Amino acid sequence: MSANNDIHDVLIIGSGATGSIAALVLAKAGHDVVCLEQGGWIEPGDFAHLHNDWAWRRATSWNPDVNMRSHPDDYPVDSDSSQVLMWNGVGGSTNVYGAIWPRYRPSDFRKGDEHGLQPNWPITYEDIAPHYDRVDLLLGTSGLAGDPAQPPRAPCPTGPLPFTAAAGRLAGAFDALGWHWWPVEAGVVSEAYDGRPGCNGCGMCNGCPRGSMTLNSRSIWPKALAAGARLQTHARVLRIETGADGRATGAIWKNRITGMEERTRARIVIVAANGVGTPRLLLASGNLANSSGMVGRNLLHHTLVAAQIWVDEPVNGQMGYVASLISREFAETDVSRGFVNGFNFNCLTSTPSAGEMTTGWMSGTTAPWGAGHHEWFEKHFGHSIGLFAIGDDLPNPDNRVFLDESRTDEDGVPVIRMHYEPGENDRRMMNYMLDRLEDVGRAAGAFEIALQDYRDANGVYRTPAWHMIGTCRMGADPETSVVNGWHQSWDVPNMFIMDGSVLATGGVVNPTPTISALALRASEHIRDNFADLSGTTRTLAA
Ligand SMILES: Cc1cc2nc3c(=O)[nH]c(=O)nc-3n(C[C@H](O)[C@H](O)[C@H](O)COP(=O)(O)OP(=O)(O)OC[C@H]3O[C@@H](n4cnc5c(N)ncnc54)[C@H](O)[C@@H]3O)c2cc1C
Repeated sequence: MSANNDIHDVLIIGSGATGSIAALVLAKAGHDVVCLEQGGWIEPGDFAHLHNDWAWRRATSWNPDVNMRSHPDDYPVDSDSSQVLMWNGVGGSTNVYGAIWPRYRPSDFRKGDEHGLQPNWPITYEDIAPHYDRVDLLLGTSGLAGDPAQPPRAPCPTGPLPFTAAAGRLAGAFDALGWHWWPVEAGVVSEAYDGRPGCNGCGMCNGCPRGSMTLNSRSIWPKALAAGARLQTHARVLRIETGADGRATGAIWKNRITGMEERTRARIVIVAANGVGTPRLLLASGNLANSSGMVGRNLLHHTLVAAQIWVDEPVNGQMGYVASLISREFAETDVSRGFVNGFNFNCLTSTPSAGEMTTGWMSGTTAPWGAGHHEWFEKHFGHSIGLFAIGDDLPNPDNRVFLDESRTDEDGVPVIRMHYEPGENDRRMMNYMLDRLEDVGRAAGAFEIALQDYRDANGVYRTPAWHMIGTCRMGADPETSVVNGWHQSWDVPNMFIMDGSVLATGGVVNPTPTISALALRASEHIRDNFADLSGTTRTLAA
């Protein structure tokens, strides 16, 4: 092992959506910050979008499912249910995300009071509201303030993305049904902002070579590096180390270029390795920070179902913008529906390319081969609109990620396994959501509607698990949560978990605005209380 006796102020593990924000805030405050990231940088030309065979690349080397691509920066995740969608490299999963950018609602933080089947958060919506606004300015977003279904908010730094023919068609459908809709915020700038060009609507985003989308490798890391943060790529952390007093002292990592094991020491350790990588690391570090037994448990993906509809009008969905409308009509609990919690509709303006369309990318509906292919293609291509319904799934300790001690990866770390199964309440919600998606399709005048329930031939729910949250949840009670309301481990007082694993409930929307706002709040708390936190052994307060 290579010897390095420096003691840094802060060690951050993971350079994704949250680790990057922590690096920027703490380096700007003058702290000596080192971030260890197991993957490398992505250059604009690396993205699938700029290649003639881009649809093929999106299905293979750029597939967001770690088990469908073969990439040396990934680690094995063995899932018996959901797909495992993430990216391991500078900027983390923002390299492949969709950047749909809606916020939670105040009620998402108070489900314990509402029905008791989920915990209350130790913080409220109001605690993070200012950070939502500031993270939008930091990252660059687009949208329209004034949604009557949401608390007031500051304007997005750029205006909403253009309203396309598909968006107009869906807006008409929601109006006909008398349901709420509003242009959804996106982590995409609609005009030049902060040195990045506005979106050109080239379509099917999931990452962005232009930088119009807020990829943290582009929006945050250059500023963090300029502020003095150090980013060590190809550095896979094998375990976090603690001292005799139970405090974290740093981490042992594998330099994947030299093959050497190295040690980095720090006064404060921030874990930002996502909802799978963080519990994996804690469990592999001798069950660290797990006196509650909750590390890895309560995995949430959201209840997700989808519809693809085809309309006579050419809507040219192969081009366009990632996001269009959101409908929060069903966001709150109404027990007369037969379940607690609510859901949202996310309406995509951009739907598959020709190749993805014919092979059933979104709904499983494929073009016929041979006779009838051209006729089908003429009728369907450019006429498709996609809709997702995303609901708030209930936590279940048996939905979890856990180590398979019988198998290790190439670095000797046990393989992580993932299990997720929707409960009875979730299934009822999904059935209801499918019916409502059909309502939207009919109201939009679709000539064909294909529903996607993400169940395989055996009825196993194989959701594309792009939201991996809940596995190190925050709470007010050390018996049932892993960190307190400031992301501080109940067991290891100088260790903070910053990534999406801390979310106590999933809400009814994509989580990254909330994850990012929380990371900004926690990073500023560490910055403002550094002397105390880096040496504290005092009793923690929720
Ligand atoms: C296909 C897809 C679409 C999505 N679309 C949306 C969307 O539209 N809207 C939305 O809100 N969210 C979306 N998401 C989710 C969003 O990407 C995540 O919520 C967000 O990136 C989580 O941030 P994070 O910091 O927790 O983890 P990540 O961004 O995943 O970063 C974790 C980083 O930690 C590194 N790491 C892990 N383990 C180690 C280790 N042992 N040593 C060193 N480094 C390590 C990883 O390599 C990675 O770079 C999507 C995700 C995917 C995959």
